[in-house]
Amino acid sequence: MSEYIATIGLEVHVQLKTRTKMFCSCAVEYGAEPNTNVCPVCLGLPGALPVMNAAALELTVLAGKMLGCETPGTCKFDRKNYFYPDMPKNYQISQYDLPLCLGGAVPLHDLAYPKDAQKTIATPDKKIRLTRIHLEEDVAKSFHMETSSGIDFNRAGTPLMEVVSEAEIADPEEAFAYLTVLQQVMIHGGISDADMEKGQLRCDVNVSVRPLGTEAWGTKIEIKNLNSISGVRRALGYEISRQSEILNGGGTLDQETRRWDDSRGETQLMRIKEDAHDYRYFPDPDLLPVHTAGIVESVGKRLPELPWDKRSRYVVDFGVTEYDAAVLANDLPLSRYFEEAARDAKKPKTIANWLLNDLQSALSTAGQSLGDCPMAPASLGELVTLIDEGKINSRQGKEVFAEMFASGRAAAVIIQEKGLEQVSDTGALEALCDEAIANSAKAVAEYQAGKLPAINAIKGQVMKLSKGQANPALVSQILEKKLQS
Ligand SMILES: [Zn+2]
Repeated sequence: MSEYIATIGLEVHVQLKTRTKMFCSCAVEYGAEPNTNVCPVCLGLPGALPVMNAAALELTVLAGKMLGCETPGTCKFDRKNYFYPDMPKNYQISQYDLPLCLGGAVPLHDLAYPKDAQKTIATPDKKIRLTRIHLEEDVAKSFHMETSSGIDFNRAGTPLMEVVSEAEIADPEEAFAYLTVLQQVMIHGGISDADMEKGQLRCDVNVSVRPLGTEAWGTKIEIKNLNSISGVRRALGYEISRQSEILNGGGTLDQETRRWDDSRGETQLMRIKEDAHDYRYFPDPDLLPVHTAGIVESVGKRLPELPWDKRSRYVVDFGVTEYDAAVLANDLPLSRYFEEAARDAKKPKTIANWLLNDLQSALSTAGQSLGDCPMAPASLGELVTLIDEGKINSRQGKEVFAEMFASGRAAAVIIQEKGLEQVSDTGALEALCDEAIANSAKAVAEYQAGKLPAINAIKGQVMKLSKGQANPALVSQILEKKLQS
């Protein structure tokens, strides 16, 4: 039995977050009635002329800048010729030899790996280099019903960015991390919502295996149109074992295109690739080449903070742990919420704890996302401050939190209504302490004989007498003073 190693390359299609399509002014709208956002250009009617969407070019350059790509001075659009029912022009407008971005890399960080693989990362801090990022138009969407098929042209002509990696991904876990980071960058840059369920991020995978210790790559097999990150991981895991087993059994592999059946957990043959397609690319005569200097300059002025830079900043500025910083920084809505809640906080780390534990679990129990959270960031900040200042203790804090989450009302109002405010009035507390001391002869004697923890029993009495509302720190101070005198 030989051992095999895999070589994996990914092509990721990203639907750009523009208002209108790539070459016409039809709206880009997910879930619209079929064939309502269409015009002669995106229906491919003869004589219709394409007009470039500047916003799509800017978003592609932005993606390139965030990933460290080079942006050549000129790009152009080419016609990729082939026939398919979902492509009425019989060619797709894409970029061939002069794409918008070249090079660059996707840095893989520990938390981007699947949870069960974060402790066994083969190559920590690996970077996967990119070949290129180019811009093209999406095709229409086919639907196959019981006795007929239909095509929805709403998607035809939607701006689609293709991110092509070098074949240097070594295992399914790295592919998972690569896609996770790419998705985070797209969301942070406002480039795409990158929701794989909505088809806004789609992935084709190339994978080959070769015996350990050999150099030449094995036969490349493509898996098309994967639509979840975990699906990519499972498909690769399956395909690597399948290919290795065939080779081990003395068989050979054909260059194939396969599809992933998620419910059966296996890849299936779609077609054997006999020859490389000849798409007869040629420059689109209706579209002039674009000088990119102006776009590069304007995009350079509005580069957003990268998730990994944000992570370092949270550790330094807010004193949160590396792990918490990464969880917060990788999720854009969560990081926005945190920064707003922590803006004036004395202990931002406490805010991070409440946010990552209590708020996240309340949201998941309620089946809500942060977007529908009834609790404004400033309200969480206020609650944490009230606890820090000793106005309420942390047990009461949990009670107030639950009420805030249910009603959306402010912490101070709830505390007042429920009469929860901690008793910090020294006179009142002294009286309670005296009463507790009088009732705890045994604990008092033990404490005075040097068994200091005995004070906790007396403190417990005071808390009970105050119905949990005494300020615990003050009670300790008063008791110590009284018992030592
Ligand atoms: Zn149109």
